Amino acid sequence: MAKVNFSKMFFDKGRLVEPDAIQNTKPRIRLPRIFFDRENFEAYETIFSNVMIIDAHTHIGRDRDGHGVDEHNFIRQMKMSHINKAVVFPLNEPNDINFSKSNDRVHNFYKNFPKYIIPFFRLNPGKKWKKECQKRLLQGFMGIKLHPRSQDFGIASRQVMKIYEKAEKNRLPVLIHTGFGLDNIAHDIKKVVDTFPKLRLILGHSAFVDFEATIKVAGKRDNVLFDTSTLRVFSLMNLLNSLDHTKIVFGSDVPYYDFDLALEMLVDTAIICNKNPNQIRAILGGNIMKWFK
Ligand SMILES: [Zn+2]
Repeated sequence: MAKVNFSKMFFDKGRLVEPDAIQNTKPRIRLPRIFFDRENFEAYETIFSNVMIIDAHTHIGRDRDGHGVDEHNFIRQMKMSHINKAVVFPLNEPNDINFSKSNDRVHNFYKNFPKYIIPFFRLNPGKKWKKECQKRLLQGFMGIKLHPRSQDFGIASRQVMKIYEKAEKNRLPVLIHTGFGLDNIAHDIKKVVDTFPKLRLILGHSAFVDFEATIKVAGKRDNVLFDTSTLRVFSLMNLLNSLDHTKIVFGSDVPYYDFDLALEMLVDTAIICNKNPNQIRAILGGNIMKWFK
């Protein structure tokens, strides 16, 4: 029998192993049965046997909005939640207009924890990005992070198209924020995936702001993945029910959310949506692993 590695939230015996004891106390409020079902405990056991969990969306540093996490706490929390690897990139740091300092920080983090970290660098398409990009390519970064709202650019604007071109040529995935602060983005995403069919694109927050239209234009593309970070439960259900499981990847958006809360919400929602343990394991790590072999 393979060794089972539980995240601490999945190993809460009070919630999972002793359903009878809980039911015997006859709580006045009926809790959803799904969390007390032995069947799900078996599903957890299967899912977490030898699973590789890769978080596709995390940050380190300190954002101008006050959110932040340092390297020490990041690794500590990762280990506590049994996350094997994490894609890491900078936050929207104040006083670092082209992200050169914060990209350095991610690079150092990667050098110190190469087994845990998949380093992405962040670019500001409106500032001199070419030199920064070249430097990071030579350093061995594995992807690029772009944020159209924070850096104020259109997803398919001229200067950003040059970044996708460079990324496609160098086989570097691009993770682009497609969440809060944006709307009607499907048209731009279509332009990007049509122009660069080999570009590997991760849609941060799964384009939930324009979801139906986006899955029409990008839901079946080989090189597009949808990350689950910070999705509300109904958006997550919608995603799991409308897209093939091979297109979906786990993301937490640490430090805006927690590793284990994000993981628990995704696994439980996937079980509710009738995904089988193999499909859930693919979503937790298998799908994105293929990009970093
Ligand atoms: Zn984020």
